[in-house]
Amino acid sequence: MRKTLHLEKTIYGQNDLTVPEAPQIALAGRSNVGKSSLLNRLAGRKQLAKTSSTPGKTQSINLYRVDPSGYYLVDLPGYGYARRSKEERARWAKLIERYLTGNERLQGVAVLIDCRLPPQQSDLDMVGWLRAEGVPVLGVLTKADKCTQRDRQAQKARWAALLGGQAPVLFSSVSGMGFEELWRLFDQAVGL
Ligand code: GDP
Repeated sequence: MRKTLHLEKTIYGQNDLTVPEAPQIALAGRSNVGKSSLLNRLAGRKQLAKTSSTPGKTQSINLYRVDPSGYYLVDLPGYGYARRSKEERARWAKLIERYLTGNERLQGVAVLIDCRLPPQQSDLDMVGWLRAEGVPVLGVLTKADKCTQRDRQAQKARWAALLGGQAPVLFSSVSGMGFEELWRLFDQAVGL
């Protein structure tokens, strides 16, 4: 059955950090990696998640309910955005960390990586941290339409090695590549 996504809750700070009693998969990645576009593609809607080009886009954790499956996709604020102040980055790191640690309903974190770039330190840090916490990491290579077939395979192999053998999904919000595969991966991660 076709899935739909609904924005159910937006968390702006520690004060409203409560999460639903339902399985969750979080989405993480550097700013501009294509996370909003991926969510919009999964939802089949252009404006569900605000893209980087949206003026005044605020940093928040957004919880999307997946129907009829009954789990949540949790959009985490992008990391590695150099133009933010140190304090702001520290505040967000803390909020993300609080969401990720000790969340028993969290079934995995999809780490989004631009298929055109070599592994960035912030991505390696994120993956290393998640693995140390025992949180399953689901690799997703974004903007696959921008990569040659050869680069796609090379990046896939490189990230498979970094992810402990599990090959990442190649995804394109433009062409729809990886759409079914990614939903399957999410379903599997929550035990469907
Ligand atoms: P976010 O900051 O991670 O939410 O990234 P956005 O979804 O706002 O995307 C950042 C930029 O990359 C925008 O200009 C998008 O149009 C572009 N983009 C995102 N996904 C794709 C994709 O799959 N293919 C291509 N060619 N461009 C993409």
